[in-house]
Amino acid sequence: MTTPSIEAKHAESAPANDLAFRVVDFLLSHKLSTAPLNYAVAHSYFKSDNAPIKAAIDARISAGKPLEAFFMSELYEEHLTPESVRRFQGVGGEVERLLDGLIDNLKAADEGSASFEASLQQNIEQIGDSADSAKLQKVAQSLLQAAVTASANNTALKENLAAADQEAKQLRDELEKHRRETMTDPLTGLYNRRGMESEMAKLFSAQEIERTSMLVLDIDHFKRINDTYGHAVGDVVIRKVAETLRGLIPDGAVPVRFGGEEFAVLLPESSPDHAQTLAEKIRNTIERLKLIRRQDKMAISQFTISIGVAMRALSDDLDSLFQRADKALYEAKTSGRNRVVLAA
Ligand code: GH3
Ligand code: MG
Ligand code: MG
Repeated sequence: MTTPSIEAKHAESAPANDLAFRVVDFLLSHKLSTAPLNYAVAHSYFKSDNAPIKAAIDARISAGKPLEAFFMSELYEEHLTPESVRRFQGVGGEVERLLDGLIDNLKAADEGSASFEASLQQNIEQIGDSADSAKLQKVAQSLLQAAVTASANNTALKENLAAADQEAKQLRDELEKHRRETMTDPLTGLYNRRGMESEMAKLFSAQEIERTSMLVLDIDHFKRINDTYGHAVGDVVIRKVAETLRGLIPDGAVPVRFGGEEFAVLLPESSPDHAQTLAEKIRNTIERLKLIRRQDKMAISQFTISIGVAMRALSDDLDSLFQRADKALYEAKTSGRNRVVLAA
């Protein structure tokens, strides 16, 4: 019989196929799409080639929590994003600094050769005054010519480098755009967890102590919204909350979606009064939102959010400030929701 070789082939590819089926089965059974990102995370889970992913998913499953798309994208961001993407930050700046340095050097060299040229000219004139100078003058003339040529070469080189500098700037802009994308939550356009780390830290270190405040927000009974109207409407609600947030916070504030229906804002230059008034305004605006489901014109029932506010204390780092705001949020939840609580 000639079939054994074919059978052998099947046997070889069976484990790979098997893994693919298990991954897809797993995603479907958790109501996740087979989008590449979800697939990559689940694939890694079944291959057990990334311990943190395996641990996080196992923990989530044994806690009985659903594997949300958001959770999967966080795992991807944190554990599977290529190192090259993470290193984008900074690369552009280095290229630009390098070229800036070169241009400065060349400018100096160019100025140097111009003054060399002038001083040669002067010397030639002086040589002309002295007797028996024909030979010296000839040497000096040829030196002058060399200096002129060198200067022209410098100018051309400088022009080339200016063009390269321009290209480096474009490259830097593209890298910056890419870096922003890796820090942005695609559903809301707010910063994601990675953006939270870098942008909040930037603002935090630039602000004077006691000027900064943190808001932590969570949609109330969001599970009900999902259960009543479906996940897609849930996503719209998340987007609306983000939109409202962005519309009300001042320039320079850092708004973040750090969980499924959880947001945080780091506010610059705010007093306790100001932070609390703003939080109240956000809460009130969201309470009054009216959403209509397009397909059947059905009104989505009112939804609310709870907010914890904390003012930066002398002893606070970013993490402790966040923790205090989060604790205030917890109080807002346990004392009835749809309210703002200021941390002690
Ligand atoms: P609480 O008032 O105590 O905050 O109750 P809750 O129902 O809002 O809180 P809980 O944390 O129990 O539920 C949050 C839900 O958010 C669970 C999860 O299914 C849903 N969720 C998480 N991420 C997303 C997402 O990206 N889209 C949608 N539509 N739902 C999400
Ligand atoms: Mg929550
Ligand atoms: Mg909630």
